[in-house]
Amino acid sequence: MNINKNYLNLEDSYLFSTIAKKVAEYTQNNPDKKLIKMGIGDVTLPLAPVVVDAIKKAADEMGVQSTFKGYGPEQGYLFLREAIKNYYYRKFITINTDEIFISDGAKSDLGNILDLFDKDNTVLIPDPVYPVYVDTNIMDGRKVIFMNANEENSFLPLPDNNIKCDIIYICSPNNPTGAVYTKEALKQWVEYAIKNDAVILFDAAYECFIKSKELPNSIYEIEGAENCAIEFCSFSKTAGFTGTRCGYTVVPKTLVRNGIHLNKLWLRRQTTKFNGVPYIVQRGAEAVFSEEGQLQIKKNIDYYSENAKIMSETMDKKGIFYTGGKHSPYIWLKCPGNMKSWEFFDYMLNKIAVVGTPGSGFGKNGEGFFRLTSFGNRENTIEAMKRFSELF
Ligand code: PLP
Repeated sequence: MNINKNYLNLEDSYLFSTIAKKVAEYTQNNPDKKLIKMGIGDVTLPLAPVVVDAIKKAADEMGVQSTFKGYGPEQGYLFLREAIKNYYYRKFITINTDEIFISDGAKSDLGNILDLFDKDNTVLIPDPVYPVYVDTNIMDGRKVIFMNANEENSFLPLPDNNIKCDIIYICSPNNPTGAVYTKEALKQWVEYAIKNDAVILFDAAYECFIKSKELPNSIYEIEGAENCAIEFCSFSKTAGFTGTRCGYTVVPKTLVRNGIHLNKLWLRRQTTKFNGVPYIVQRGAEAVFSEEGQLQIKKNIDYYSENAKIMSETMDKKGIFYTGGKHSPYIWLKCPGNMKSWEFFDYMLNKIAVVGTPGSGFGKNGEGFFRLTSFGNRENTIEAMKRFSELF
């Protein structure tokens, strides 16, 4: 028996454990200082009341013989896929229910989708990046090419026709940079993918933070994307489902490679390796799309967005380069005084007791940058930015 040796090529991630260690040390040495954590990518506001009601009602149904549910459809209950179809329709995008697959979150599907692709494919991934894209491909032994996201291109790299690849990752709004692609830029990516016979894996986990109608919430707003892109969405950041777990993936039936419909392959994969998301959770997710649900989740998103605004206004006032903040819960700032990411982390912690995430943890182009998140509470965000303003 041989193990999958590709796992040995994964780099150990010490990012969050190092942060935790440094924070614990600081707290022990400074017990009376109020520490403000702005490093986490997890939501903090509770589920919307309509979601909680729907989950409770579904739990009651499960306790009654006549409404009890056993295994559900692997692709997800039709009531939820219909709700998602209508959500897209309201954005003038036509997706059929058999092109939507309910999952337990975007992270699983982003990893699992690689089952459909040959190990010989070359993968194009932006740097800095959400580490899951890189690690899941290393586990399979695929060749990864990085595209540079940096200050010059405002962390939104465009296709380079000299580079050949088969799989392209795009995350917009981006984690960690908060940068959002315009329709024109995504059009270039779609054209490049079609020309190269490549497939775009479009991560739209943060689409609900987009405030402008001009910016695309979905890759399918771009003509031709239905022939070259798979889209991953999540209720995690949209509706506070990080602990409840639900997402969805769109695989258009028009996406064909080697004469095979990828939708058919994905259905085969899911029906073989996945037994669906709990009925109770899917009822909760359905409630997100009700009129009341949309209003209630908007309140939470607006709360985080207001925090992000407070942070970006502080950067504006101080003349610090940053991306994100406007259509994203993340602020990606250039460390003042040309500090390195970890140097800046220590400086912020020791001087003003504010914790963020060093950009170097997301790739080599993240060096010299720092990620702050808006998922905390208002009082702490204001206090942290007050301390920041006094320091710089
Ligand atoms: N995609 C991106 C870019 C993320 O930042 C995250 C989580 O932080 C996910 C996907 C995972 O989302 P989920 O909670 O649906 O698995």
